[in-house]
Amino acid sequence: MRAISLGSGSKGNCTLIASASTALLVDAGFGVKDTFERLEKVGYVPEQLSGIVITHEHGDHAQGANRLARTWSLPVYASQGTSLGAKLESPHIIKDMQRFQIDDIEVLPVLVSHDAREPTQFVFESNDFRLGICTDLGCVTPHVIKAFQSLDALLLEANYDPNMLASGPYPPKLKARVGGDYGHLSNQQSAELLSKLVSERLQKVVACHLSEKNNTPEHVRAQWSPWVPPHTEFTIASQTDGCEWIDLMELAHG
Ligand SMILES: [Zn+2]
Ligand SMILES: [Zn+2]
Repeated sequence: MRAISLGSGSKGNCTLIASASTALLVDAGFGVKDTFERLEKVGYVPEQLSGIVITHEHGDHAQGANRLARTWSLPVYASQGTSLGAKLESPHIIKDMQRFQIDDIEVLPVLVSHDAREPTQFVFESNDFRLGICTDLGCVTPHVIKAFQSLDALLLEANYDPNMLASGPYPPKLKARVGGDYGHLSNQQSAELLSKLVSERLQKVVACHLSEKNNTPEHVRAQWSPWVPPHTEFTIASQTDGCEWIDLMELAHG
């Protein structure tokens, strides 16, 4: 199994997950042309995709969903709340902790705390590999800690540095939203979650969904580095370029 972020942040999110025979998108935060170009850049074409999984209805995750699905004739998978919130056209309804299959990739939706109707994040499994995506959550729940154990790779939100958020340009209401239990994870919160999810098995961890106004890669590194084990590779995804390939097959076989 392999994965790559095609772009991560409040201006748009999209991640490609692929096995030997299946490829799917997690979130559709970019338009058709933009998504096509981002796919092409990493060597994929829409014809290779088997579906789109949507985490929640916020524009940076769902704004391109219907157009992508229509243009490329792809099934869309989302919770009932997300489907209603994003006005998805004929979605496949998914439920918290109910696994479903997209060809040879098994998908586990995990409900998270965020200011959307029914926000879910995901664990993907294929060929005994387990990869988790966990962004857009305002606090860490026991449910999340339990569901994201024993991963080979983890894409985890590190949204803001609390001091930068406090002294930054956001109006008070937005500061309270981002920093609240239904907003986003600070670097400290995500570092603490990371400390509970690291294992012998974890090959790669990617910090995602960094705020461009309230965070820097240096701030993330300072908080995360103490918790990243020596055998785990640590990178940071960006809004424009996403991240490098997370290639679990290649790593597992040396
Ligand atoms: Zn988001
Ligand atoms: Zn969101």
